[in-house]
Amino acid sequence: CGIVGYLGKANAATVLINGLKRLEYRGYDSAGLALLDNDEILVSKSAGKVASLNERAHTNWSPEVFKRSGTGIAHTRWATHGPPTEINAHPHLDQSGDIALVHNGIIENYRALRTRLESRGHHFYSETDTEVLCHLIGDCDKGDLFQAVCDALHQVEGTFGIAVISSREPGRIITARRGSPIVIGIGDGEVILASDASAILAHTQRVIYLDDNDIATLTLDGVDIRDLNNVPVTREIAELGLDA
Ligand code: GLU
Repeated sequence: CGIVGYLGKANAATVLINGLKRLEYRGYDSAGLALLDNDEILVSKSAGKVASLNERAHTNWSPEVFKRSGTGIAHTRWATHGPPTEINAHPHLDQSGDIALVHNGIIENYRALRTRLESRGHHFYSETDTEVLCHLIGDCDKGDLFQAVCDALHQVEGTFGIAVISSREPGRIITARRGSPIVIGIGDGEVILASDASAILAHTQRVIYLDDNDIATLTLDGVDIRDLNNVPVTREIAELGLDA
């Protein structure tokens, strides 16, 4: 239902939780976040409110983790496939545990994809369509996360707004959309993405709205946007003109 992603110098976990709070008005049943910390993916999830996710994160992670991790993705879920439990909450991980994904929307052909991946040795821990998409990205990853996301999205029917991180490629977030909004905020030494500009306002007024079938790589050097055939596309930077 709601997505936030952050890359920058600030404490990512706190930025992400504050961003999720801005999206609470949209409704949700569970929440979670993944951090990239010392080239390792750390995940905290909780059924219920963002406040209980916040408590969970502070129980799971030391203050040092909060201080040093500047990269992460977060989600508030409105369950469509699988009940609103902690295990079904996003972010989901791929088979290797190196890739984390948050997703808004519905992967219509997830059953067929899941069956095929299971026959290739993948094991699934949740009942969500989203976990299948994450495993598919992992299965496509031959050393280039951007290309893996492109290849996976070519095989997907349905709708998505996604954000993906990999411990094998720290310092970047891949985000894409089809039928579900994604806005990228370009701040001063930081990039923040969300499904709704309200989660970005506190950081910057300069934003780029993705179009359907756009896929973007976010790094501290900037935002690179392409179509699903890896051809660069140009999207204008807009000024939000709203008060934080
Ligand atoms: N279909 C996904 C799920 O049930 C995403 C739902 C959402 O958009 O929050 O987990």
